[in-house]
Amino acid sequence: MTITSFYPPQRTLMGPGPSDIYPQVLQALSRPTIGHLDPLFVGMMDELKQLLQYAFQTKNTFTIAVSAPGSAGMEACFVNLVEPGDKVIVCRNGVFGDRMRENVERCGGKAVVVDNTWGEPVDPLLVEQALIDNPDAKVLAFVHAETSTGALSDAEALAKLARQHDCLTIVDAVTSLGGVPLLVDEWQLDAVYSGSQKCLSCVPGLSPLTFSQRAIDKIQARKTPVQSWFLDQSLVLGYWSGEGKRTYHHTAPVNSLYALHEALVLLQNEGLENAWQRHKDAHLELREGLEKLGITFVVDEASRLPQLNAVYIPDGVDDALVRKKLLERYNLEIGAGLGALGGKAWRIGLMGYAARSENVALCLKALESTLK
Ligand SMILES: *Cc1c(COP(=O)(O)O)cnc(C)c1O
Repeated sequence: MTITSFYPPQRTLMGPGPSDIYPQVLQALSRPTIGHLDPLFVGMMDELKQLLQYAFQTKNTFTIAVSAPGSAGMEACFVNLVEPGDKVIVCRNGVFGDRMRENVERCGGKAVVVDNTWGEPVDPLLVEQALIDNPDAKVLAFVHAETSTGALSDAEALAKLARQHDCLTIVDAVTSLGGVPLLVDEWQLDAVYSGSQKCLSCVPGLSPLTFSQRAIDKIQARKTPVQSWFLDQSLVLGYWSGEGKRTYHHTAPVNSLYALHEALVLLQNEGLENAWQRHKDAHLELREGLEKLGITFVVDEASRLPQLNAVYIPDGVDDALVRKKLLERYNLEIGAGLGALGGKAWRIGLMGYAARSENVALCLKALESTLK
């Protein structure tokens, strides 16, 4: 049998990511590949850095995109900021918090886990108690927007507690960037990573990352080298720094970076506040329709993520069959429940380009007729 070209169908992606990609971003991806040390490419990278600083609302000079998905951004934060023996307080209210714990342990650190109920935000009082009980802790790690449950935590309050107890913060902003307010400088967050394929509506495979000066100071004071060569950010800095002469570290994913540049130009043109509002508006529309169908939310209204709607599967409904029908009949993908919510919830994403009335209408219509 001869294998021929692969042509995927045109799906509508309304799950936990990847999200639907802006057509302009797909076009940018197919522009001619040029050398990753080409002066024109280097100029594009400098713009990309500025665009990322805008998206993160930071002046941090160390603001880049890791050449790998969000999980690599997570790992980059831990391997650079956690040395063997370091104590790290890890907040766990879903799947991604647990991955943070695993990262700490694999770095030889000691994780102190603060558990919160799935579907609820991280409780600052529990975190404060953990900080009091562990005065030797060096880092506080938490997920801003828990994609596994749809809960938003108060990053500003958590970061303030961390500073009061002399801890750096590692913040997972994979799903929050571009979808809800994230103010890296104002909230004084230290190491923040995100992903290209959620609310930025870019192709998967890149992880925006920013480090504060406090984080850089900790990295520079390390007693041991970072155990990962690829993710050692002191080496990557030589490639991303705008000092003119760039050194080879690894071959940058040239076309994917064009795509991220384009996605961020679109975000800049729309304006961050408008993007946040668009996600909120789409969420309110979806909520109204779902409530008419008798579908209820996992997360309390106060901490619901507009871009990730975790809802209970109605009683007696076959989870996998409904998702299969949505895909076959409507080319619509919604997310299954993850971890403790597996089989119990669906996760409907309104991320980036998908946060539009058209998508909400399609999803509601498809769900209504499929549930019948
Ligand atoms: C998607 C996601 C990740 C992982 O990103 P990948 O690009 O899949 O590696 C990490 N944290 C959160 C909160 C996410 O939603």
